[in-house]
Amino acid sequence: MEPKTTIYTRPLARLIEQLQRLPGIGPKSAQRLALHLLKQSEEDVQALAQALIDAKHQVGYCSVCFHLSAEPVCEICSAPSRDQYTICVVADSRDVIALEKTREYRGQYHVLGGLISPMDGIGPEQLALKPLVQRVSQPGVKEVILAISPSVEGETTTLYVGHLLQPFTRVTRIAFGLPMGGDLEYADEVTLARALEGRRELGA
Ligand SMILES: [Zn+2]
Repeated sequence: MEPKTTIYTRPLARLIEQLQRLPGIGPKSAQRLALHLLKQSEEDVQALAQALIDAKHQVGYCSVCFHLSAEPVCEICSAPSRDQYTICVVADSRDVIALEKTREYRGQYHVLGGLISPMDGIGPEQLALKPLVQRVSQPGVKEVILAISPSVEGETTTLYVGHLLQPFTRVTRIAFGLPMGGDLEYADEVTLARALEGRRELGA
C-alpha cells in the first residue's frame, strides 16, 4: 500500500498530487520529485514554474502542419532547405519529434491530431483532414508518407487517409518492423529510419 497523501503537510501533499497527475508518474516518483524540488533553490523552482507557464502560453499549433509551434508557421514548414513536396502524415506531434530525431527525413509533416477510433467517438471529422487534402491537392506534391502506428485505430486511419489522398498523389506507408500496437515514439531511431526507408505503396 502506498502511503496516503494526508501524511504529508498540506502544500507538499498538493505538490505530490499534481505531479502524480503527469503521465508515467506514480505515487513513489511523485514523492521523490516533490522532495527533490523542495531541496532546490528558490531561483531554480521559479525557473521551472516559469518554463511551464511560458510553454503553456506560447506554444500553439502550426497553421500549416498542426505541429506544436510558438510561431504561426513552424520551423519545419518554414525551412527553405526542406523538401516542400513530400508530406509525412502522423497522428501526433510526438511522432514528428521521433521522426526528426532520426535525421533521415527532410520533407514536411502533417499532424492529424489523433486516430480514427469509433469506440472513443473519434471520427474523421475530428482530425485535421480537410487542411491535409487542401495541401495535397496543390500542384507539385509528389508523395505522401503515412507514418501511423500499426494498431487497429492506426490501420483504420491509414486506410482512410490513404484512400482520401490517392486521387491526388502517390501514397506510401512506412514499413513497420514494430509489433502491433507499437508506438512510433517508442521505436528507436534506427528502427524508425529503416521503417521510413522501407516504405511501400499503400495497398501494394
Ligand atoms: Zn508546420
